[in-house]
Amino acid sequence: MTARASIPAMANAHSHAFQRALRGRAERPGGGRDDDFWSWRTEMFRLAGALDPTTMRMVAREAYDEMVGAGYGAVGEFHYVHHQPDGSPYPEPNEMAHAVAEAALEAGLRIVLLPAAYHRGGWSAGSDVAPAPGQRRFCDPDVETFLARVEALRGWAASRPGVSVGIAAHSVRAVPGGWLEAIAEYSERHGIVRHIHAHEQRRELQECQAEHGCSPIQLLERAGFLGERASVVHGIHVSPEDVALLAQSSTTVVSCPTTEGNLGDGYLPAMTFADAGVPLAIGSDSQVRIDPFEEARELETGSRRERQLRSGLLAAVGDLWAELCRNGYRCLGLDGELSDQPTVEIDLEHPDLRGIDGADLPFALATCASAGVVLQPPPLK
Ligand SMILES: [Zn+2]
Repeated sequence: MTARASIPAMANAHSHAFQRALRGRAERPGGGRDDDFWSWRTEMFRLAGALDPTTMRMVAREAYDEMVGAGYGAVGEFHYVHHQPDGSPYPEPNEMAHAVAEAALEAGLRIVLLPAAYHRGGWSAGSDVAPAPGQRRFCDPDVETFLARVEALRGWAASRPGVSVGIAAHSVRAVPGGWLEAIAEYSERHGIVRHIHAHEQRRELQECQAEHGCSPIQLLERAGFLGERASVVHGIHVSPEDVALLAQSSTTVVSCPTTEGNLGDGYLPAMTFADAGVPLAIGSDSQVRIDPFEEARELETGSRRERQLRSGLLAAVGDLWAELCRNGYRCLGLDGELSDQPTVEIDLEHPDLRGIDGADLPFALATCASAGVVLQPPPLK
């Protein structure tokens, strides 16, 4: 009989399911020596422009099936492909969100939909930049329209066990400052979590400085967006002041190391955050890899590179896997004890783990395991 162990299934705190269809194709040569995040984004817009509710559901199902098999027990779907390609709403304005939620239910994966506000292509010379053609289907004309759709989505999800709803702003470049305040206020009023991308690329910091005279995290603090219900996704290029603001407000930072490495974003200063007491969670983001063990290992390895020591996050927290699970479920609003969350069975005879001492399992999970060790899909609770 196979030697096995039961461990908590990981919370995937940041996902764009449809981006799984970019695998391989986003790696084709084309950008020459200057290929970067922004040229990848152009390819991603092309893919997003081609999706309809049926194909969205199909690609999401592929991603979620893979997540279940890899040891994820819940997903936070940061959803921004809302409308038809020309930007006009579907007859059912939440049709695309319904498609991804139904894909998760079919896959047996608990989902937290995070509908993301998007309004503009950026900001320049004192005014909003109109969305590019590839961005129109992400956009809403005003924050009231966006919030009304979130409200309707919450109503739809209320009768669907396994589906819950938070809220998101795509980024500080995609929405004006006033939207951040309105979204934070809505989140607090309804007791739901709120997420945002921030500090992924240096250009984003320069643009925020030009528009608001501060960093994105400082802007989020002014807007009342930071807080226990808030998650900042990426948090790579941060100043000591940014880190202090996240720590003081108990904001979670969601790191997506395989995506951030693939996109050339940089790496998370994980030990700086750990020392400041900022909770860290992980996400599969672009789905270039769907393997929570690999995300945990990349985070741990990066933390050792950061200080050029073997004592990194694992030494700081003891059981990094459990810590990332705990923070991940909490930042998705799936509160409760870790023992209440889904579990996954792993194969202790798998080559990744064969021969390790049982007491060393927490250390092995963050340093030498892969999704190949997972035996059973986590049950949907
Ligand atoms: Zn993302």
